[in-house]
Amino acid sequence: MIYLDNAATTFPKPNRVIRAVEKCLSEYCGNPGRGSHPLSLIAAEQIYNCREALSSFLGVEAPERILFTQNTTHALNLAIKGLLKRGDHVLISELEHNAVRRPLYRLGAENAVTFDTFPVVGLPEEAILQGIARRIRPQTKAVICTHASNICSITLPVAAIGAFCHRCGLKLIVDAAQSAGILPIHLKKMQIDALALPGHKSLYGIQGCGALALGEHFLPSPLWEGGSGVDSRSEEMPTEPPERYEAGTLPTPAIVGLLEGVRSLQEEAPDSIAKREKELFVAAKERLLSIPGIHVYAPRQEGAVLLFNKQGVPSVAIGKQLADRGICVRAGLHCAPLAHQALKTPPDGAVRISFGRYNSLADLDALWKALRAE
Ligand code: PLP
Repeated sequence: MIYLDNAATTFPKPNRVIRAVEKCLSEYCGNPGRGSHPLSLIAAEQIYNCREALSSFLGVEAPERILFTQNTTHALNLAIKGLLKRGDHVLISELEHNAVRRPLYRLGAENAVTFDTFPVVGLPEEAILQGIARRIRPQTKAVICTHASNICSITLPVAAIGAFCHRCGLKLIVDAAQSAGILPIHLKKMQIDALALPGHKSLYGIQGCGALALGEHFLPSPLWEGGSGVDSRSEEMPTEPPERYEAGTLPTPAIVGLLEGVRSLQEEAPDSIAKREKELFVAAKERLLSIPGIHVYAPRQEGAVLLFNKQGVPSVAIGKQLADRGICVRAGLHCAPLAHQALKTPPDGAVRISFGRYNSLADLDALWKALRAE
């Protein structure tokens, strides 16, 4: 199998992540924060270690401002629904995933919140900021945008958007599903108020947890109520993060995997992984464009995600043909219909290949041969 679907979830995971998860499950996986016995205490300590590792990796003020969620989607729902009130207006980029679009449609259907999209495809930073500025209304409360697109290699100038938002008194919520572990992130320096991320993509944890990182002045309303392991007599959730937001048992094995994934990135230098993924992008683009009828979308910016189509062949058929040859890619609409409209793909979408730290040029040669053979 050749795996080129790392934007969906990275595979394989580093051996050290697998070993850490196995050790957790076999040696100490008590319920964290729910007992004073050693198995609960070790689990709680590991969870704190992960908060600490993530907060220093992401430039977050304190470990307590890392909130664990089930995935990026839950983190975005918490930031969006926990911030917005009836009558608010927000701005989102034209590249947003359904994890941003659907919560806003739901709030819109309840007549609570309105939103507008701002363009980014093919635009320099200044024009993106102007597009945001033009759409601000008196009711605008926040900008919500992805850091890196999940369907192509376009990234957004998040630090410039952060500085702009704060000059205008707007909050900035960032979807880092495709950037955490690949692009540098520093919440404080980039003036990000809330950042949602997955454990299972380029941070190399396993599926089962994500996180919402809170900036200094961002405390959304909690979305869930329940046991938190502290202040059990109270009828309300605790007042401070993280317990205020983490109702119910946390996924300790997934959080331990994420901790080991972050440590592995810190030791193996994320810069060099990102550089290699860009090299793979360039090499893949060259190979694909040598095949007649292939069109690569947004080809100028290099990144970990490349989107293409072959003239006259539905994307899903290409995906299936590649799968039959043992090559894993994703075809179709990728949960991001707004982004497909912005890139002008056909209605049935396009084929996405996405790189991870274990891909090599040999994988791209195999892809090229398989596509030429069709
Ligand atoms: N946002 C973007 C840009 C994504 O690519 C994805 C998933 O691929 C998500 C959000 C949702 O992530 P998760 O599946 O971790 O909820």
